[in-house]
Amino acid sequence: MPDNTNKIIAENRAKCICEPCPTYNECMRAGDELLFCVTGKSPTCTFDKKGCLCPTCPVKPVLKLKKAYYCIRGSEQEQK
Ligand code: SF4
Ligand code: SF4
Repeated sequence: MPDNTNKIIAENRAKCICEPCPTYNECMRAGDELLFCVTGKSPTCTFDKKGCLCPTCPVKPVLKLKKAYYCIRGSEQEQK
């Protein structure tokens, strides 16, 4: 990962609103997985798509995000 990725994670992880999302599940909670838009899709968990809160996330304007379902589809970079 590039140097500034760790900075982006540190600055935005606490703002990620995945946790209350209906798609967020026990597997992701157990791994404390968040900020999929930067870190990419969940490496081990599988899911059912039940909605995505990313379009309403406060991180969206900060990182100029345009996609959704990052936990399943991969980071903004990977979805380009
Ligand atoms: S856009 Fe989605 S994955 Fe990224 S911080 Fe917000 S809720 Fe989390
Ligand atoms: S990336 Fe989107 S679908 Fe996945 S847990 Fe976060 S808000 Fe929900």
